[in-house]
Amino acid sequence: MEKSYKTVWAECLQIIKDNLHGNNEVFNMWFKPIVPLNLENKVLTIQVPSDFFRDWLEEHYIDILGKAIKTKIGPEGMLRYAVVMSQSEPPTVISQPSKGVSRGTLENPAVPVPTNIGKEGDVPNPFLIPGIKKVKVPSQLNESYTLDNFVEGDCNRLARAAGYAVAQRPGTTAFNPILIYGSVGLGKTHLANAIGLKTKEYNPDKTVLYVSSETFMQQFATAGKNGTTADFVRFYQMVDVLIIDDIQFWCNKGPRTQEAFFHIFNHLHQSNKQIIITCDKSPAELAGLEPRLLSRLKWGLQAELQQPDVETRMAILKKKLESEGIDMPHDVIEYIAYNINSNVRELEGALISLIAQSSLNKKQITLELAKQMIDKFVKSTSREITIDYIQKVVCDYFNLPVDSIQSKTRKREIVQARQLTMYFAKKLTKSSLAIIGLQCGNKDHATVLHACKTVANLADTDKQFQSWISDLSKKFKE
Ligand code: ADP
Ligand code: MG
Repeated sequence: MEKSYKTVWAECLQIIKDNLHGNNEVFNMWFKPIVPLNLENKVLTIQVPSDFFRDWLEEHYIDILGKAIKTKIGPEGMLRYAVVMSQSEPPTVISQPSKGVSRGTLENPAVPVPTNIGKEGDVPNPFLIPGIKKVKVPSQLNESYTLDNFVEGDCNRLARAAGYAVAQRPGTTAFNPILIYGSVGLGKTHLANAIGLKTKEYNPDKTVLYVSSETFMQQFATAGKNGTTADFVRFYQMVDVLIIDDIQFWCNKGPRTQEAFFHIFNHLHQSNKQIIITCDKSPAELAGLEPRLLSRLKWGLQAELQQPDVETRMAILKKKLESEGIDMPHDVIEYIAYNINSNVRELEGALISLIAQSSLNKKQITLELAKQMIDKFVKSTSREITIDYIQKVVCDYFNLPVDSIQSKTRKREIVQARQLTMYFAKKLTKSSLAIIGLQCGNKDHATVLHACKTVANLADTDKQFQSWISDLSKKFKE
């Protein structure tokens, strides 16, 4: 008579334990939760709690498993997995032959499935209530980072529009995953949150979850310590829209975290669930991430957030002031927008410091106050003067509209203003002649060179020009 499947599995476990050389952590995490279901025609069926769990066993422990099964059942011994995703659902068995041990040809066996999976009573994950398929998961979104608050500009148009599309139809557009990348302070976290909030608005039944890559990594480590990795993975596989912020954090660390995420990613992607990722670099520049994960990131849409131009910076400042209910003179807003061009976070920082300064010292917000404050602010971040700013100062000085530099006109006063702008841009910025030309009415580098020579000559020979140059030089030093 054949031994009972339970006895066979118990004996297999003993062999596995021996082969793990006393590594109890691994044993408790990956073998204890397995439930033997039956043994028929030398096929042992074991129940595992998730696809991830099965894949992990296959990848890491198939040799050990195989050895145990061959020893106890014989050389034709086969292994079959039954994946039971959740305890509360009626038990459905997804039966899959093992890749490593042997590929069975049996029909899926209809086996009774016991429900005692893993350790009950543990809450391994801050969001998880074990055994409930559709839990209400707090989405961890920042309610103030809305799409309406996210000012549109050339710098973010693609990412914003794609985000909007994703929010309307999560998981079913070509933008899956959507990878939003760009350097610090350009709005990645804001936009990712905004997409999450919009998704919830359009799809109130969907579970949206925001998590920083750092938190994800910590949760994974904790789950590992508590022997609840499978629950951790199961939890994330249940989410409809998963937002992972700052994925570059995983570079060159956390290979296990990356691996777990890889499995979660695959599961979500296959089930048409939406994945939203942010990163401070493009995938092409992202070294230190597992290649197979990296390749997944390139599947959907990569949308870059660039530095906002001066109009967008103005619009962002105005939006911010509007939401705070604060009035500010237009020239002050303009001054800040022209002078802080590094990123949006610094732009907001400057605005907030200015508001604080004025209310603490009970001073009116004036251009004078803004200049003092921004100077300090800018000195501490060692700012470069920009071509935009030079254009603005020159145009203000001659009372011309700023965009006149861009125009094709040959009016003398505008030609002069343009030449002076080019001259100062060459002198005060690190930009190449070609870049200066591009920004001053789409001229080529030879035109810029000619302008610089002309201005230098006139500075020596023409009294009028001399005084313009000295006035403007002072303005740039202010
Ligand atoms: P990142 O995650 O890329 O470092 P954040 O999303 O934290 O940047 O953005 C920094 C700050 O700038 C936030 O306060 C955010 O609200 C603001 N911000 C960035 N881009 C925009 C935008 N287009 N419109 C309005 N606010 C923005
Ligand atoms: Mg961020």
